Amino acid sequence: MVALEDALQILIDRCRSCHTERVPLAKSSGRVLAEDIVCDMDFPPFDRSPLDGYAVRMEDIQKASSKRPVLLRQTDYVPAGTWSERGVGAGEAARIMTGAKIPDGADAVVRLEDTRYEGEQVYILDPAQADKNICKRGEEYKAGEKVLSKGSYLQEGNIGILAMLGHSRPKVYMRPNVGIMATGSELLPVSASLQPGMIRDTNSYMLDAKVRLAGGEPVLMGQVKDDVESMAERLLDHPGLPVYILTGGASVGDYDLAKKLFERLEIPILFDRVAIKPGMPVIAGYWQDSLLLALSGNPAACSISFEVLVRPLIRKMAGFAQWKHIRIRTKLAGEFGKESPVRRFIWAHCFAVDGTLFASSLEYQGNGMLRAISQANALLDIPANSPKLDRGTDVIALLIPSLL
Ligand code: AMP
Ligand code: MG
Repeated sequence: MVALEDALQILIDRCRSCHTERVPLAKSSGRVLAEDIVCDMDFPPFDRSPLDGYAVRMEDIQKASSKRPVLLRQTDYVPAGTWSERGVGAGEAARIMTGAKIPDGADAVVRLEDTRYEGEQVYILDPAQADKNICKRGEEYKAGEKVLSKGSYLQEGNIGILAMLGHSRPKVYMRPNVGIMATGSELLPVSASLQPGMIRDTNSYMLDAKVRLAGGEPVLMGQVKDDVESMAERLLDHPGLPVYILTGGASVGDYDLAKKLFERLEIPILFDRVAIKPGMPVIAGYWQDSLLLALSGNPAACSISFEVLVRPLIRKMAGFAQWKHIRIRTKLAGEFGKESPVRRFIWAHCFAVDGTLFASSLEYQGNGMLRAISQANALLDIPANSPKLDRGTDVIALLIPSLL
């Protein structure tokens, strides 16, 4: 049995990082950037107007008021996408629209609302803060500045930034393929009708979603009965994947065959069992450059082992700079009536009241149950040797990105 951090380190030390590819920007959301992005120019690329108004010289209009308007002559018209060839001289104004380049000679923009105009005559009624009404070239990014780092998640804001800076085909990491094989003679595919003693394979589909949302590419290998030869055959039918997750058979029952499978294929074992509850049965092997992880068949236990071991592994392989869970300190909203001789993970719902974060541990957390997860957004990490927990106890919560 190994400690969770040691188990994770053993996996991370052996994981391959993914190749990269270039993809069209419009297809790149949710991917992980595989290059640093450095700005090759100032942004905005020119001084521009943030509003509709008149581009003027501040010294001309400083004293304007509604009682003593300053009269200027409109000498140009600059909608967005155009620019003024002649510029703005003393006593002149250029009618300018939002986003247009500030004409040479102008150093202020008066809002339309602070003017009165008739033909070429423009009365400035209020200088307000006209000299502040200019978005300066380079005010957001300066040429040479690092804008995004390798390992950044391409969320919508980052996609917008890439578009703004002209990156039509960003370099991203390819997603690691993750084989998923459900073992258990009682398992039926989701489309089958139930028969006595049989259940539907829950884990394949849950893990498919988890792998995808963690940044991997799931490869469903289906359900296999409790028979070492069938398991070996199915595995060999899907060669070369960097990670395989097997569920079921990782414990010590008569039909817990994961270990026998590893022996049959002479897969060296990296560790057997992790000191957490639920999710203790985990057998990890490393074979022909692939990591194999046999997890408990119990859906709740399987989902917790996945969270604390496999999600960080997949995120790391997928290139995320931030591959570990975000951990936050919360207060337990109710009591938790069990002692925790072993480090325990509890599905919880975190919420804030007046700026304080609370976590409710959820009901229906039995090993074979999934009901709690549909309400959860976090896992509480309760250290080994903890007593029952009172309401208000400080607890650490791991935020689950795909459940937020
Ligand atoms: P095992 O880890 O094989 O001992 O299985 C533990 C429990 O999880 C048993 O009740 C199994 O029926 C159940 N189980 C195993 N695999 C799955 C699966 N893929 N989907 C749902 N339940 C499963
Ligand atoms: Mg089984």
